[in-house]
Amino acid sequence: MIKKTGQIHILSINCGSSSVKFSIFEIPDSLGKKNPLLNAERIFSGVIEEIGTKFGEFHFKTKGKEDFGKLNFKDHSEAINFMIHKLGFNIANLNINIVVHRFVHGGDEFREPVVVTKENIVKLNGLTELAPLHNPSNLKGLKIMSGCMPHAKQVCVFDTAFHRTIPLYAGIYPIPLDYYYRYKVKRYGFHGISYSYINNLLSLNKKDIKKLIICHLGNGASICAVKNGVSVDTSMGYTPLEGLMMGTRCGDIDPSIPFILKEKLNISCEELYDILNKKSGLLGISQKTYDFKELLTYSDENSKLAFKMYVYRIIKFIGGYCAALNGIDALVFTGGIGENSSLLRKEVCKNLAYLGIKIDDRKNKKASEYFNKFDCHGKIKIRKQVKSIGGGKIPIFAVHTDEDIQMASEAVKLLFYEKRGAT
Ligand code: ADP
Repeated sequence: MIKKTGQIHILSINCGSSSVKFSIFEIPDSLGKKNPLLNAERIFSGVIEEIGTKFGEFHFKTKGKEDFGKLNFKDHSEAINFMIHKLGFNIANLNINIVVHRFVHGGDEFREPVVVTKENIVKLNGLTELAPLHNPSNLKGLKIMSGCMPHAKQVCVFDTAFHRTIPLYAGIYPIPLDYYYRYKVKRYGFHGISYSYINNLLSLNKKDIKKLIICHLGNGASICAVKNGVSVDTSMGYTPLEGLMMGTRCGDIDPSIPFILKEKLNISCEELYDILNKKSGLLGISQKTYDFKELLTYSDENSKLAFKMYVYRIIKFIGGYCAALNGIDALVFTGGIGENSSLLRKEVCKNLAYLGIKIDDRKNKKASEYFNKFDCHGKIKIRKQVKSIGGGKIPIFAVHTDEDIQMASEAVKLLFYEKRGAT
């Protein structure tokens, strides 16, 4: 059992529609002006999946120790109470000072992390329409945690916030302008917490990069063009459906296709939405799996086609953003696929030689071996999370992203930095 005092404890939590993911960090309460990322330690983490189904599972970890099993949870409340029970069991005298919640969509309203107030909850409720698949469960988590831990400060961090800097010409769609003003139809972009983390990590590692492309490739996938540390374009749009081909999402398609399919299949808008969000992408083409690692184990024609399409679409986006940025200074791969798959990185970079992008095969393989075994518990390893894999003019990095620690760090800065007079 871990016993801790003299520390601030932060719980980062991400409530999905049927899952809860979380990490507990501690930082010394004498942190002063020091960067939380350099001083944080992850002491516990976990995931509860398939909430509300008969296939419930939990998996908790501390350094060198795991606890997992199958258990069904009626709803998020039951799952979160189980998580709190496990925390109490593993960490003595644990006093959580801050709970930081991941919100996928902050709309136009939330461009920075905020402390939860009654006023903010009303505004957050109003955002459900923008992200019906994500925000309601984020809100559910916030309400449950506020009840369970009333003495902790509750903070929200938004995935859309990093993209607030996208200029109007890149951020709105060529449809009647009125829809932007009246209904806020524009490119919000997502994965912003991950992009912020990568940016911070590169600058902490003294990589002075002016024009950067980051590929965040997980079950959801997007690409971001970053100039002087801020987002200037990104592939996801009004919702996380736009852009790259993903595990189950289609990404970019001709906007007429949904109308044609609706007619031909005689289905409702909800069913159509379901097809594009949950039955397309790698799953739709391979007809076998949405999981990239599993896809690589198949050798049938459809699976090979799914892999080719996935790679091709990434290459097209990188080329597009290189043009938009008028050249790049570095390329980053992150997310479960971006970090772990040396094959994916190699195949993407093969077609980018004309830009001075060349993979070093040995470094590329070594980076995947390292990340495949990476244990994120204990002190945050900011130097070891960035692996240089390039062998050409343009640096290429495989980077382990850590959205939970980025959230914790943003919450600490919001709550303590002003008081301490830090910048
Ligand atoms: P999420 O978007 O849900 O956070 P992750 O970032 O964890 O997802 O990425 C999950 C994806 O990463 C899955 O498609 C998984 O198969 C893939 N992945 C994980 N490890 C490897 C690996 N060693 N090789 C290839 N793909 C991997």
